[in-house]
Amino acid sequence: MRILVVEDEKKVARFIQRGLEEEHYTVDVANDGERGEMLALGQNYDLLILDVMLPKKNGLDLTRTLRQQRKSTPILMLTAKTTTEDKVAGLDSGADDYLTKPFAFAELLARVRSLLRRGAQEKSAVLKIADLELDTVTHKAKRAGKVIDLTIKEYALLEFFLRNKERVLSRTIISEHIWGNSFDTGTNLIDVYVNHLRNKVDSRFTRTLIHTVRGVGYVMKEE
Ligand code: CA
Repeated sequence: MRILVVEDEKKVARFIQRGLEEEHYTVDVANDGERGEMLALGQNYDLLILDVMLPKKNGLDLTRTLRQQRKSTPILMLTAKTTTEDKVAGLDSGADDYLTKPFAFAELLARVRSLLRRGAQEKSAVLKIADLELDTVTHKAKRAGKVIDLTIKEYALLEFFLRNKERVLSRTIISEHIWGNSFDTGTNLIDVYVNHLRNKVDSRFTRTLIHTVRGVGYVMKEE
């Protein structure tokens, strides 16, 4: 995990750098907004920690520029200001979180961890269970490396199952998610669709992933 710290107070920058390096993060430091912008645009960081008051380009403007350039790297803003308006300005500019100076290092670390976790979840576009995978960007499903062709509804159903692994899903929950609230759950349409999906996902394999829960609905899990 690589983190860029943009902070002009050298003592504070060193304090953050040392602390993060002790936690095994790789840390680069820039002491003004322009240098920070150059590094943030040129390198792939997992997180940016930006001070608001910076020489050459302040943290708010820097954040706006990065977001305009479609850099979605999580940003933690460090601010000496404590009024609500300033916090709102920080978040409005595109920052993900802020921390008011002075702060305890433990709190900085907790926020860093939380932002990195969030970023990792957004990046992992592939949902998996056993040897089944679904790429939520390309909409391709594969089992044991072989592509499975899915209709739009089957795709939606499979994605819903994968996002709720190990969770028993009632027919009502499934129908609300896939068809919206207008759907009449008295029909067996859900069962029909689940069976179509099973034929494609499970029938040719020894390990079953979609299981019926009698009287309730379905669950996707490894046995
Ligand atoms: Ca400053």
